[in-house]
Amino acid sequence: MPLLATCKCGRQWSGTVQAHCTVCHEHFSTVNNFDKHEPNRRGCKKPAQMVRKKLDGTVVPVFKAVEERYGVTWVGWSEDTRFTENENEDNTE
Ligand SMILES: [Zn+2]
Ligand SMILES: [Zn+2]
Repeated sequence: MPLLATCKCGRQWSGTVQAHCTVCHEHFSTVNNFDKHEPNRRGCKKPAQMVRKKLDGTVVPVFKAVEERYGVTWVGWSEDTRFTENENEDNTE
């Protein structure tokens, strides 16, 4: 049985890989993604508004919202296998 974690905002999730922000209550698929939204008590970055520039200069979202069993989870584009392969890990600043 998967262990369920719960936040006071009501969000539940399973597994220890995912990360929930107790400030903005956004939910991330990995701790790495969590770190990317720069958690800050005075206001985290909003994952929905975060973009990055690809090597070819196009601006793409950093995260994509995936509706999971317990609610929306922010997933890195490169983790989404439904996305084209050439979008993978080119997020050098
Ligand atoms: Zn946050
Ligand atoms: Zn929460």
